[in-house]
Amino acid sequence: MAKYIFVCGGVMSGVGKGVAAASIAKILSWYGYRTTCIKIDPYVNVDAGTMNPIEHGEVFVLKDGTECDQDMGHYERFLNTELTKANYMTTGSVYLSLIQKERSLYFDGKCVEVVPHVPLEVIEKINQAQKLTKSDIVITEIGGTVGEYQNLLFLEAVRILKLQKPKDVLLILVSYLPYQGEDMELKTKPTQYAIRTLNSAGLQPDFVLARAIKPLDEPRREKIAFNCNMNKEDIISAPDEKLIYKIPLNFEKEKLGLKILKKLNLKPKKKNNLEKKIWNKEINKIQNLNKEVKIGIVGKYFKSGNFVLADAYISVIEAVKHASWSLGFKPLIYWINSEEYEKNKDKLEELKNFNGVIIPGGFGSRGVEGKILAIEYCRENKIPIFGLCYGLQLMIVEFARNVCGLKGAHTTEVNPKTKYPVIDILEEQKKLLKEKLYGGTMRLGNWECQIKKGTIAYKAYKKEKVFERHRHRYEVNPTFYKILQKNGIIFSGISKNGLLVEIIELSQKIHPFFLGTQFHPEFKSRFMHPHPLFVEFIKMSVK
Ligand code: GLN
Repeated sequence: MAKYIFVCGGVMSGVGKGVAAASIAKILSWYGYRTTCIKIDPYVNVDAGTMNPIEHGEVFVLKDGTECDQDMGHYERFLNTELTKANYMTTGSVYLSLIQKERSLYFDGKCVEVVPHVPLEVIEKINQAQKLTKSDIVITEIGGTVGEYQNLLFLEAVRILKLQKPKDVLLILVSYLPYQGEDMELKTKPTQYAIRTLNSAGLQPDFVLARAIKPLDEPRREKIAFNCNMNKEDIISAPDEKLIYKIPLNFEKEKLGLKILKKLNLKPKKKNNLEKKIWNKEINKIQNLNKEVKIGIVGKYFKSGNFVLADAYISVIEAVKHASWSLGFKPLIYWINSEEYEKNKDKLEELKNFNGVIIPGGFGSRGVEGKILAIEYCRENKIPIFGLCYGLQLMIVEFARNVCGLKGAHTTEVNPKTKYPVIDILEEQKKLLKEKLYGGTMRLGNWECQIKKGTIAYKAYKKEKVFERHRHRYEVNPTFYKILQKNGIIFSGISKNGLLVEIIELSQKIHPFFLGTQFHPEFKSRFMHPHPLFVEFIKMSVK
């Protein structure tokens, strides 16, 4: 008999529902239960692939090529697992499958209605994910904030499932308490309103996670409990925590795992879980690191009004952390706006302050010349540099221009008329774009990559065959393989059919670490299981 936990958000977005859901799944697994996480995005977009970073932050990619929300990355990193499209849905994908059913006469002539059919479709999808992952407990995170029109149908799904299985369904509200007022105190009223909004949707939360910059104190815990018909033990303090991997342990201090199990009528199957001990030890280690490694990420800035959004590279940041911690270093990560270098080349000198530099993935022409300047500077000054996807492509452009002498070389994504299209779109991709088939059509998800012996890549992976996740339309153009190789570029990873370049590098006799990947290794890095290429990069950076 499966159990269901729903996590929804109150007061404002960005309160950490994703990390909370992942942490809950983690602690329940420590008690011996198989858990999985599902993310519901309330957008009408069928997946996150068609949204830009300003709208949606990073697009995370699963092994099956699903383009989804960055919270899916948190789930994979916390649970050290690989999820599939069954664990992700949007309003668009729910409607799409419902309408496909209707068109095939699945409903046998009945009138198909928003309620109950949409929430029932949601429940069916949750059950499919539960079966596929063979999970005892499914934790489903409902995106957005309660009170928004767009997640009402998902709350309705919770109400219906609770009605069907009253003993098997829990609802957890992750809410926010502002630190405000003349006496600077945590204010509970917005959270009380959020709970009333849930009440008006026919729901009462079983737990409230009180997110705030401070721990929750007794009077305020009592206030929420008294005003919202709750037990005060079910109001959980969840103060800000810089080290997100510590959050499962913080929840355990509040005995959240045991409290959840009790409400679900479950007994802990395991008590002194080994992984929990190792996790705890690792957190202690990380908190006491004093050697530092400085990594600069040369990307483009995503501005929305007066604010700069840093969410777009979250998996890269986490991958740098995992690798640095594993080597005993505290990572200091710096943001560099590549457009600054286009305005003022002297600024490139600052790159000398970093142990290593990353050129992350991206699309379009903004900031590209600045990134190319940064690559040139790092190559010439022997600063370790790691290019991810667009990063690899721009390393090839830089090398073609400045080493192979192909003046004006470019990617056809930026300059379709370049004389030297060293990065070009595949024929099959051209056709898709002509027909405006943009959604879910890039080279996506896992592709096999063969690693050449005697290279940095092989030193890192220690094997000849790996699978890595992709998300791009452009590739290194085969017409230029020879000239690139003649000038020193090594293709250390190639696709299974031998036709596509997956990893490029320079010999370490020339440069300590000049390596780019056409795929996104950051999507496979996990807490306590860092990605080998990131480990190698950090190793050379600290050297
Ligand atoms: N814009 C490039 C392409 O589509 C790189 C994409 C990326 O970095 N994810 O090929």
